[in-house]
Amino acid sequence: MLHFELNKDFTINLVKTTENYLIKSHDNRLKIKRVIETINHGNLPLIPEATPENLKKISWLDNKFVSDKQGLEIVVQLFVIESNNKIVIIDTCIGNHKDLTYKPWANRQYKFLDKIHAAGVDRSKVDYVVCTHIHLDHIGWNTTKVNNIWETTFPNASYIFSEKEFQHAKKFENKLHGNIIEESINPVIKRGQATFINPPYSIDNNITIIPTPGHTPGHMSVVVNYDHLSIIITGDTIHHPCQIACPEWNSYYEFDKDLSIKTRRRILEKNAGQNSIVIGSHFPGSSFGKIIKDGDKYSFDISYNEYEQKN
Ligand SMILES: [Zn+2]
Repeated sequence: MLHFELNKDFTINLVKTTENYLIKSHDNRLKIKRVIETINHGNLPLIPEATPENLKKISWLDNKFVSDKQGLEIVVQLFVIESNNKIVIIDTCIGNHKDLTYKPWANRQYKFLDKIHAAGVDRSKVDYVVCTHIHLDHIGWNTTKVNNIWETTFPNASYIFSEKEFQHAKKFENKLHGNIIEESINPVIKRGQATFINPPYSIDNNITIIPTPGHTPGHMSVVVNYDHLSIIITGDTIHHPCQIACPEWNSYYEFDKDLSIKTRRRILEKNAGQNSIVIGSHFPGSSFGKIIKDGDKYSFDISYNEYEQKN
């Protein structure tokens, strides 16, 4: 375990294993861990400009971020924040038995619930589930099919969605992705577990949901404050670390391309420096690091990250 001094008042323990805590404060008041559902090694169509030639020009982008085939390493995962005696899940990945238009992810049968359990998460004790946006890879495990009925996977949680996002997704994303509203949102509403918000919205003193529109109209990111440290889980505002070097590179899936770039730049500007940790929801490896600003250029520093150093 590595003690990293963020400033003289504060240290944080960064834990090496990918399947355990990503981040744990020295006093155990804050833990952020993740559960990986799937890793894509370079063959997911994602960012048109991220060609092997262009990626080679980004000096700090090494094989931790780009696979042997020179494609982008992409992880689908959920995050579990334990803070102030609350358990908050951020995004719920792809899910099982889902009717999705993207066939490699449709009708999956993967023992992800066992993985959640193995990560030490009691599903019945989860207080909140936050969906950064309503795309197929962020809402899937909202629900689980039991005896042919969609049950909520986290039976006592309040599920938080952006109201604007929901209105958009009903009209637009649902047809694009498959049956995501019927399978992954409506059962949550039916059980009285859905909360629709207009961010910014604070869950408690430490956790705030902020609007980061562009990728989708109601896209949200999650900021966790701990002493002087700010940790942001960026959802799909930044899909891959290459977009830290090139914030103007959009994915194929941006709803509003100009706004996506603007939001990405805003996130980078605001979180550059010592007191912020950025967690990219789809970033490979440990998924977290520090944004370094040099002139008008940004890079991603994972040098204090023991997992990355040893792997
Ligand atoms: Zn995504």
